Amino acid sequence: MSFIEFLDSYITANKDVAIASLQGCLRIPSVKDDATVAPGAPFGKACADALTYTLDMCSAAGMNSVNLDGYVGYAEFGPEDAEEHVALLGHLDVVPPGDGWTDGPWDAVVRDGRIWSRGTQDDKGPTFAGVHGAIALLQSGAELRHRVRLIFGCDEESSWQCMEHYFGAAGQPMPKLAFTPDAGFPLYHAEKGSFTATVSRPLGVKSGAISGFTSGLRPNMVPDKATVTSTDESLISQLVAVFPDGVKITSGGFQVTGVSAHGGAPHGGVNAAMLLARALAEATGDSTWVTLVDLCDCDGRGAGIDGSDDLTGPLTLNVGVVNIVNGQLEVVINVRYPATWDDSVLQRCWDNLADRGWTLNHFDHTAPLHVPVDQEPVKTLLSVYRDHTGDMSAPKTMGGRTYATSVQPVGVAFGAAMAGDPEVAHRPDENISIERYLQCIRIYGDALYRLANVDA
Ligand SMILES: [Zn+2]
Repeated sequence: MSFIEFLDSYITANKDVAIASLQGCLRIPSVKDDATVAPGAPFGKACADALTYTLDMCSAAGMNSVNLDGYVGYAEFGPEDAEEHVALLGHLDVVPPGDGWTDGPWDAVVRDGRIWSRGTQDDKGPTFAGVHGAIALLQSGAELRHRVRLIFGCDEESSWQCMEHYFGAAGQPMPKLAFTPDAGFPLYHAEKGSFTATVSRPLGVKSGAISGFTSGLRPNMVPDKATVTSTDESLISQLVAVFPDGVKITSGGFQVTGVSAHGGAPHGGVNAAMLLARALAEATGDSTWVTLVDLCDCDGRGAGIDGSDDLTGPLTLNVGVVNIVNGQLEVVINVRYPATWDDSVLQRCWDNLADRGWTLNHFDHTAPLHVPVDQEPVKTLLSVYRDHTGDMSAPKTMGGRTYATSVQPVGVAFGAAMAGDPEVAHRPDENISIERYLQCIRIYGDALYRLANVDA
């Protein structure tokens, strides 16, 4: 019996088990929770429970499971004398459910051929499809050249301490080849580089009557509200004249509204901080507001770093958070730059911002990902996808960031959404069709089998 024949018989025989095991994990509300942080549970109890649940299941199937202090864990099988391993990286943490659900977000109800729950698409559903594909591979007894490792992270939706711990304090080796089932098919072989920076600039004397300015919640969202507070009645009157739809707030404040959007696509929104800064620049003549308006340019022109490449398109810049702190205007920007660029864009940004009077206080940087299409694992994964679906679509690129950046340049994002699937990740009524889930078990099982036998 070929491995594919075995895989098909496994899926037929274990369909109910595969669904029930996923439901069990979906019913653990694994949102990061600071209130229940404890030793072995760095992201709270539910994330730790989801990890234990998944590792226990892999152990019961005969894999060697290791929990790395609750940050992340892995389950492994294959030839003990193999020097290298291939890996699937999935995450078990989820974003908060929010409102608007038809069924409870943690009920994992099966209805209309679909499973409905937070995490069905992002990322427990695809991860468990990988787990069952791996169990089938282990049970088949197929010969493997490399070991197979399933890596389960618990902090993907927040600060990525999981992967930091895995390759840092826990000292785990890089896989030979890897994929993360956390985006779409056929696969994403390039991801833009990104950095988030906090910069500040003193307000001039002309802004003396302004006591506060607040806008934005997160660096990667376009702010849809901006509020200024001032004792200067004539300034507020000027703002009322510019923004007839704005809201006057008691105790001398004024709020304007923009349109929120994802920080990776800031052109799709209207930055409320920029709207208000433009009016304040006009009203006060203070150059700090003028430079903030410049900085809000979505192409990065105001930071002197605009540009693009053929692979991933233009650089984008989002001004995500603005506040007055100790007489300084403090601004958090999120930049996503083309994947073929090197990190000299950071220095260029700092130099240009310094020329405009901004001081750099803090930054985080993630290098871009680019695996050429004629290299592994792209070659093997693309042929797996094409063999299973007949869809010859070309590999894609994205401005976001997946676990593939943690294992570059040997990993890419591979599935699990297909063209036409509802886009429900991070939204109410997140769901996955059972048909897609079972198909992914087949695709991921075959992908692990073929990667584990790649030459050299
Ligand atoms: Zn995800």
